[in-house]
Amino acid sequence: MKQNIYDYSLKELEEILSPSFRAKQVYHWLYAKYIHDFDKMLNLPKSLQQELDEKFSAKNLSIIEVETSRDGSRKYLFRTKDGLSFESVFIKMRDKKIDEQGKIIEGEKYTFCLSSQVGCKVGCAFCSTAKGGFVRNLSAGEIVEQVVRLKEDNALAPEKRVNIVYMGMGEPLDNFEHVTKAIRIIAELNGLSISTRRQTISTSGIAPKIRKLGELDLGVQLAISLHAVNDELRSRLIPMNRAYNIESVLDAVRNFPVDTRKRVMFEYLVIKGLNDDLGSAKALLRLLDGIKSKVNLILFNPHEESEFERPDDEDVRKFADFLVSKGLLCTIRESKGLDISAACGQLREKEKRKSLKNVSCETRREDGNP
Ligand code: SAH
Ligand code: SF4
Repeated sequence: MKQNIYDYSLKELEEILSPSFRAKQVYHWLYAKYIHDFDKMLNLPKSLQQELDEKFSAKNLSIIEVETSRDGSRKYLFRTKDGLSFESVFIKMRDKKIDEQGKIIEGEKYTFCLSSQVGCKVGCAFCSTAKGGFVRNLSAGEIVEQVVRLKEDNALAPEKRVNIVYMGMGEPLDNFEHVTKAIRIIAELNGLSISTRRQTISTSGIAPKIRKLGELDLGVQLAISLHAVNDELRSRLIPMNRAYNIESVLDAVRNFPVDTRKRVMFEYLVIKGLNDDLGSAKALLRLLDGIKSKVNLILFNPHEESEFERPDDEDVRKFADFLVSKGLLCTIRESKGLDISAACGQLREKEKRKSLKNVSCETRREDGNP
């Protein structure tokens, strides 16, 4: 069985290849040119191309479906070599910068939302990923390759600024070794060069793993899926709260090394009638007192399997206004790609239903044929 080449850090590849400088050349082809045929790596000797081809595979994920939203976000359904599917999202946003002459330069910035597992063990009541149960961890290489395939498919120049969020399928801290290895490979200066500071891990709150991540001091950003201000509701939404309650999660966060210019993000999924009232906003403010935080309100995105409802815009606005009036940084997550089933796990669910009911839907295969 060929090894996934994206599993290898530059140092590991340097130890395998001789002479070792070939590793940097291979990295350049993989991560700056998105080349996955070793015989197209033109500055390598034929013998090395062959050796690489015998040992490694540089194409381990195939794109089986892409949905493009009106706002330009694109949701990808990938298939692994062992036939499992999972998704990633490509998000394009307008960006404004001021140059040295004070002129406003309009550009674009990109965020890639990556999956860390096929399925998830945490079993949150609102999440469609949870409904399919847990299948397996993605390897570091399968996580890294999502970035390469998204850049390749969107013809993004290697130097384009990209942010990474681990907010697709799965609980990243439940796949700790592979995710932290992927973070390092993605940050490699001779490769994708996406600094750890531009990578954000979102977790449902595995307190001991938050501590372990903090000890590694990778420089990675932290986002906590809080969603509720009391343990009763949080345990209903995120069953793992029974093992690691709100206080234990916040305690781990307080010990997490945060860049002086950065804050820990608290994600708060707003669900109609459950946690969208001003009393909850006040309790949230009290809970986060003393933590350098920002709050990201996410509007619950209804799906077939769920009993919950999307909150009223007016209530979310009041909730946000209250937090802002008290000096807390608060944003409402833009519903990027809402028309293409925006939230975590939903595309895969749709694909499953499609194969059950044979509903037609835009599908694009690797060979370009519909
Ligand atoms: N497991 C990690 C990261 C993946 S989930 C975590 O839970 O943090 C990524 C985000 O998708 C979470 O913030 C989660 O709250 C959100 N999400 C899941 N289902 C959703 C839904 N139906 N509507 C809106 N957001 C949802
Ligand atoms: Fe898993 Fe996150 Fe979905 Fe919860 S919200 S089931 S932790 S992917």
